Amino acid sequence: MLFLELAQTFERMEKTSSRLELTQFLVDLLRKTPANIIDKTVYLIQGKLGPDHKSSQLGIAEKIVTKALSLATGMSKNEIKSRFDKIGDLGDVAYSLIIDKTQSTLFQEDLTIEKVFDTLLKIASSSGVGSLDLKIRYITSLINNSSNLESKYLLKLILGNLRLGIANFTLIDALALCFTGDKKNRKILESAFNLSSDLGNIARILAEGSLEDVKSISVSLFIPIRPMLAERAADSKDALNKIGGKCLAEFKIDGERIQIHKKGQQVELFTRSLENISSNFPEIAKMFADFDSNEMIVEGEVVAINPANSKYLPFQSLMRRRRKYNIQQTMETYPVLLNLFDIIYYDGQNKMDSPFAERRRLLESVFGNVINNRLRLIDQMEVSSIDEIEMFMKKALEYGSEGLMLKNPNSIYRAGAREWAWIKLKKEYSGTITDSVDLVILGALYGKGRRVGKYGALLLGSYSKEDDTFYTICKVGTGFKDDVLDNLYQKLSNLIIHKKHPRVQPGALSMDVWFEPTIVLEIISPEITLSPVYTTGKDMIKPGYGMALRFPKFSGNIREDKAPEDSTTVKEILEIYRNQLK
Ligand code: ATP
Repeated sequence: MLFLELAQTFERMEKTSSRLELTQFLVDLLRKTPANIIDKTVYLIQGKLGPDHKSSQLGIAEKIVTKALSLATGMSKNEIKSRFDKIGDLGDVAYSLIIDKTQSTLFQEDLTIEKVFDTLLKIASSSGVGSLDLKIRYITSLINNSSNLESKYLLKLILGNLRLGIANFTLIDALALCFTGDKKNRKILESAFNLSSDLGNIARILAEGSLEDVKSISVSLFIPIRPMLAERAADSKDALNKIGGKCLAEFKIDGERIQIHKKGQQVELFTRSLENISSNFPEIAKMFADFDSNEMIVEGEVVAINPANSKYLPFQSLMRRRRKYNIQQTMETYPVLLNLFDIIYYDGQNKMDSPFAERRRLLESVFGNVINNRLRLIDQMEVSSIDEIEMFMKKALEYGSEGLMLKNPNSIYRAGAREWAWIKLKKEYSGTITDSVDLVILGALYGKGRRVGKYGALLLGSYSKEDDTFYTICKVGTGFKDDVLDNLYQKLSNLIIHKKHPRVQPGALSMDVWFEPTIVLEIISPEITLSPVYTTGKDMIKPGYGMALRFPKFSGNIREDKAPEDSTTVKEILEIYRNQLK
């Protein structure tokens, strides 16, 4: 199949702001895609070369792409740069340049999806001496063989900024419609996705097999599982009621969740958004590799500790371990402690359907003898009264935890689900809502005074899983240190989009710039109020009104561990609002 067909679909998608239309374009494309390249096509639609946990990443530097574009078109780098400064996107620059030179272009070879995919893979995975020249040569040759429309999307893919607004859930809808004719089957595809994290593979199974084959997808070692999540309760009484009167309470530590897969010496670590971060925590990987035990998948919360007194350090310190460079040095400055809290797979057996209390016993029997100052099981206590919860909460806070997790002892592990089997209870900021919220940046207003040339206020949004849409909730301008603001400005300038995003519901708000929803910030606020301006929970409490955060303030934490779809949901915001009224 020709890459041109994909480029034409991308062009249609870029021009629409309607999610329904977007889904329909995807269905039309998937219908005509041959089964043997459907996985590659799905990855390209996602702007990727494979599932996040194992593929090489695109996102080649602008400088390299500019050089290739200059070689392919004969246009000077300065001319390209000046067009880029005007247009803001190298893909669009390529489109305009190649239109200008259509008469002199002789296409040498038709680009197929397969050829493009394989070349992009070579570009992304070449490294070491000579790799720069090689990348430039590959990109130049792709441009030489493509029309203006093809090069526009080739370059967007190569740069890693396709920005078509297609999320996993939109693709899941399209796959359900295309292969089963019924959107209701998205549930089945979603469960398979929660376990396998690979939509390309699911598409291929659907194209070559059936829905039944998708149902049989199960847990596999070294393929990350989407984590089970927690609901939030207003207070201990509410939590105890919701969980059925008796539960296992655990410290809730404010670190980063990691999922560890081990088979013999092979160990891999994944974040809650399924990124492979084995190289960021080499000491944990080594500890598990050296551990003489059966194959397993376990989960825990990793927290940075002060090497002098072993006290927990804030989340921001841990995020230093997420940098690509100087791992050895940051490892010494920010040592970490791993607190295990679940076991999902052991000795060849899927443990997800075992009750939580049984999984905990297994965890104890496997790790009982290996506890040390870098690895422990999370503190746990059986509780059945408010007093017991409060007492355990006090202890948790003394230890530097942010609160408690209450877990139903009979609950199974439900990948990707947020339900009342797990409930989080956080310490109350005095007089404020009980919990911070994590919101995604959707737009911005330019700053004034000291902030001229930067953003003065950021528009934030919550997420609705039901319709895969982001809804506005507040503008935030306080809590930002200058260096953080500079850094955000840099990151956001790569995310600017030029039309309403198909998955954002902005209402009547107008902003100076809009972004591809990507960056998640932790926000604190004393209260949620009703507002005619924002679209979160619109009409759900009062006709014509949505919800807004009052006096929102950035906590200082950029939630690099969260994907935009992991932001606080509209449902959770409504829940917090209702809890406030109690
Ligand atoms: P938050 O932003 O409140 O930390 P979250 O949105 O990341 O939470 P939730 O499902 O609301 O995710 O809360 C569960 C998170 O709490 C887990 O993803 C994990 O990172 C963390 N956590 C800390 N201690 C525990 C524990 N004992 N059991 C399970 N998760 C824990």
